[in-house]
Amino acid sequence: MNKHDTALVRSALDKSGFTFTEQVEQADVVLINTCSVRQHAEQRVFSHLGHLKHIKKGRADMIVAVIGCMAQRLGDKLLEHEAVDLVCGPAQIPQIADLVAKVLQDGQKKLAVTENIRQTAHEEQDQALEKFESTYGIEDKQIPGQAFVRVMRGCNNFCSYCVVPYVRGPEVCRPPAAIIEQIRKLADTGVKQVTLLGQTVNSYKYKSGERTCCLADVLAMASDIDGIEWLKFVTSYPSQEFFDPILQVMAGSPKVCDYLHLPAQTGSDKILRAMNRNYTAGDYLGLLDRARATVPDIAIAGDFIVGFPGETEEDFQATVDLVKRARYKNCFIFKYSPRPDTSADKRLQDNIPADVKKRRNIELLAVQGKISGELSERFLGKQVRVLVEGLSKKPHLDLVESKGEPQLVGRTATDYIVVFNGPQSLAGQFAKVKIARTSPLTLFGELT
Ligand code: SAH
Ligand code: SF4
Repeated sequence: MNKHDTALVRSALDKSGFTFTEQVEQADVVLINTCSVRQHAEQRVFSHLGHLKHIKKGRADMIVAVIGCMAQRLGDKLLEHEAVDLVCGPAQIPQIADLVAKVLQDGQKKLAVTENIRQTAHEEQDQALEKFESTYGIEDKQIPGQAFVRVMRGCNNFCSYCVVPYVRGPEVCRPPAAIIEQIRKLADTGVKQVTLLGQTVNSYKYKSGERTCCLADVLAMASDIDGIEWLKFVTSYPSQEFFDPILQVMAGSPKVCDYLHLPAQTGSDKILRAMNRNYTAGDYLGLLDRARATVPDIAIAGDFIVGFPGETEEDFQATVDLVKRARYKNCFIFKYSPRPDTSADKRLQDNIPADVKKRRNIELLAVQGKISGELSERFLGKQVRVLVEGLSKKPHLDLVESKGEPQLVGRTATDYIVVFNGPQSLAGQFAKVKIARTSPLTLFGELT
């Protein structure tokens, strides 16, 4: 979601005549797009700001803007920081070029965030975001041949640990016509894979007269667009609503990738209740069974939080059991991080010691690592189709014979990362790779 916002802001600034540099010291304007989901992400922003404060000593004309969730969460407190000139929330990014120009002109600090984000209707703001998204959302060129399309903003779920509803505001679903138009334009520019984005993307719904359009309908409409070959969507919430229609369109359309990111967060029913997640571990596993019955080769990824307040060894064991039964392709595992103003932070004490959180994190990663390894091994000797992203960031040169060609990375429809050697011109194209070697998170092979 944040990468997508960065791409939108970049396009908007580009259109207004700004040029870009990766060299901080050369910049007149520095923008930091921020995340508030965990404290660690916010701490990193403060350390960047400390560094920028230092650089600004010799560059009085440089301006620093903090945009995104941290801007919305901290508002004027962030503006008080010596290094910060502009604070711009996620809903104010449509004004970013004007805001930056104003600060450059008059040198005054500026705050642009939403007041009473959960209480009042923000229709004008939503319209501005919609226009911004449709205009600049067709230029997301971060990975060749791929693009993100947001289908919904905000969230109404209020999981007790989560800051998102307070910084991204209430759930707003975009009109299906705007989404489809955006995907069509992306296809015209050569985009082959579109990932639909939403905090609870599977519960997307848009009412127009008698009809309600759900995510399965959007996926079906997008499947009809020439040029689009793969459609993915993240992140899904484990609810019954619309679940089966989505599985059916996945099973029926070769374009809808057999991949589901379905965070469980914990395997303990007691902790699920405390997290205000509206399902039990049994309900969750029931959804996975249904998914696998309808789409036999579906790859499933998960998210977990360890060390939530009150998590006993028994609760943690329930999570380990769930992970073993779920057989995820991969999992993102986080240590609980109390977020100010969330109900967990207000009502519950962060009472699991840091070393216990760490141990549980490592233990769960090891359990998942073994499962990921076993699932990856099933690809040995098989040929997979990948959409090539570009040069591999990590050098794995000892693992594959190089033959003078650089190491590339791509992903399968089911989100497996594949590393192989080939010409860089393949970036943005599909390729077939025969898998020669595997590790838990990566498949290595040769171009066929
Ligand atoms: N909307 C998505 C996830 C949004 S945040 C969903 O509901 O699944 C991404 C992930 O960050 C979450 O799935 C959760 O595992 C993790 N997360 C969110 N808040 C957290 C917190 N306070 N501490 C630790 N991890 C957190
Ligand atoms: Fe946060 Fe829950 Fe909404 Fe996901 S569904 S963004 S975890 S409140």
